[in-house]
Amino acid sequence: MLIIMHSDHTPEQLEAVVNKVKAMGLKPHVIPGAQSVAVGITGNSGPLDPREFDVFAGVSEAIPVTKPYKLASRDFKHADTLVPVGSYEVGGPFLVIAGPCAVESEDQTLRIARLVKAAGAHILRGGAFKPRTSPYSFQGLGSKGLEILKAAKQETGMPVVTEVLDQRTLEAVSEVADVLQVGARNMQNFALLRDLSRLRKPVLLKRGLSATLDEWLMSAEYLLSEGNAQVILCERGVRTFSDHARNTLDLTVVPAVKEKSHLPIIVDPSHATGVRSRVAPMARASAAAGAHGIMVEVHDRPEQALCDGAQALLPEDFKALMADLEQIAAALGHSLAKAP
Ligand code: PEP
Ligand code: MN
Repeated sequence: MLIIMHSDHTPEQLEAVVNKVKAMGLKPHVIPGAQSVAVGITGNSGPLDPREFDVFAGVSEAIPVTKPYKLASRDFKHADTLVPVGSYEVGGPFLVIAGPCAVESEDQTLRIARLVKAAGAHILRGGAFKPRTSPYSFQGLGSKGLEILKAAKQETGMPVVTEVLDQRTLEAVSEVADVLQVGARNMQNFALLRDLSRLRKPVLLKRGLSATLDEWLMSAEYLLSEGNAQVILCERGVRTFSDHARNTLDLTVVPAVKEKSHLPIIVDPSHATGVRSRVAPMARASAAAGAHGIMVEVHDRPEQALCDGAQALLPEDFKALMADLEQIAAALGHSLAKAP
């Protein structure tokens, strides 16, 4: 249920509605808007009767919401959500997150951080804790990796995105990360999502390996339900019958998310394709499709990379891509975010 208040409602009228929701054992979410204020209700297991709220003074309309996710939906909040990260806003001008798949050493991370920054990247990526299919593969440097990311952040001034694999490492990761990444494999780790929902830190929520849009938005709902409104969605390809690429990049999901949700959406063409030669074309397509940004893997010595070298862009590829993205953004009447 979404209750829209009259534009001239009084604070007392709003409070009466909020108290009514609480008295029903449900959770009110006051959502300020440009025209007026809305109150979203969560916690109900079945439909609510709009007449329960229509009778309150100051209420313009009570609208039943049938979608399984509420706080993540456009019905609940019409205006686009902007997620502040450092001096940027995800959801505003086009943003580029770039860096290695994994933090491998201080030297490797600083080298790549410097070069992506010089090419115009806004935010640095790099995994310290890596979710690997094989237990025998490189699992990341762990807390040593976090220290390295901290150093890279200090030197370049770039905000950092890094993955949080589990609750055990949540505190340590959130001390360094400006954005906490939930990987595809953890999209439905509801215990982790609940803990993240209590933080007041941006979360980059990757789409699950074969998640539908509704399932993905339900996971976002977990984050929003406890009050963390800073959620960025990231399409990274899904598993299909196609076997010519690592995953199938579902670009249709970009406009679909923008119709259904107010949350910003970015695209990861690296994990979606798995092959260097396909990353830039899909990054350009993502910008053309209206994504709010991309996240790409870059490595200057991909043949030595401990993880995902085959899909890492070379520094010169990345530079050329940045120039293309600038032109695509301009053609659509947007721009790339300005680095401080
Ligand atoms: C990553 O971005 O480092 C990663 C592991 O991606 P995904 O969770 O999408 O596989
Ligand atoms: Mn990777």
